[in-house]
Amino acid sequence: MIQLYIPLNFLGVLYREIKQSLTDLDKMFVLMDREREVADVPGAQALALQGAPDVVFDRVSFAYESDRPILKDISFTIPAGKTVAVVGPSGSGKSTLARLMFRFYDVQQGNICIAGQDIRQVTQSSVRQALGIVPQDTVLFNDSVAYNIAYGRPGASQSEIEGAARSARIHDFIASTPKGYQTSVGERGLKLSGGEKQRVAIARTLLKNPPILVFDEATSALDSANERAIQAELASVSQNKTTLVIAHRLSTVVDAHEILVMEAGQIIERGNHAELLAQQGRYASMWALQQSAD
Ligand code: ADP
Ligand code: MG
Repeated sequence: MIQLYIPLNFLGVLYREIKQSLTDLDKMFVLMDREREVADVPGAQALALQGAPDVVFDRVSFAYESDRPILKDISFTIPAGKTVAVVGPSGSGKSTLARLMFRFYDVQQGNICIAGQDIRQVTQSSVRQALGIVPQDTVLFNDSVAYNIAYGRPGASQSEIEGAARSARIHDFIASTPKGYQTSVGERGLKLSGGEKQRVAIARTLLKNPPILVFDEATSALDSANERAIQAELASVSQNKTTLVIAHRLSTVVDAHEILVMEAGQIIERGNHAELLAQQGRYASMWALQQSAD
């Protein structure tokens, strides 16, 4: 009995270990795949920043596959500390802008500069260090919720982690679980809803506190009460930070320095909220539609 029990127990441990390495391997291949797309130039230096930088897309064109252009001649500037918003139908290339800013891919034409530095000329790691993203779909690590929040800033204290979780309105939920911040999440842990995962991602970004923020439909998975509360929080953290907001709700973009309306990889309208309403074009009709839906 004992002889049987030990090997079986050992096998159980081994099985978990293997399964974990497989999951992590999966993740690694995904990452490696990305890494293969871009590489640091020999002798690349870290991005040099002093406070919030400006971000410039200059005549950027991009395709994932050579025969299918996705972004066509995109130019815009996010002035230091300001917010630029992007709206437009699904598939128009909004998230691709965010991926290019992170340099997950290199552009085929034009360039992207942060504080005057072409992101292809500096180290990838320094670019990613400078940016915080709340993505559309958050993938959590198979680890504790504390680890997942602190991932943005390794070495953060428990009270800093809790502060970020409170701001992202996820603290009460975490505290209500038996193991609290040590609760495992991810595929092998507690299953979180889309909205809960999104709030973990928001907490992670608040904690990282980078000079450049990207919100990719950051509150789309939340119910409207949470969305409003977190929206206010995001607006306050993005004060004085260079921010790209990809929005599905136009109410979140009215204060943006500039709003870009995208369609099929092109900017078809641009301006601030009042200017776009006055144009009585696509934005104005999207606005009218959302006002009547609310
Ligand atoms: P949006 O965020 O506006 O919905 P995306 O930027 O995600 O749009 O996608 C723009 C287009 O690029 C879509 O047609 C999408 O199918 C395509 N696309 C997105 N990611 C990839 C990829 N990894 N490989 C090939 N095509 C992709
Ligand atoms: Mg998208």
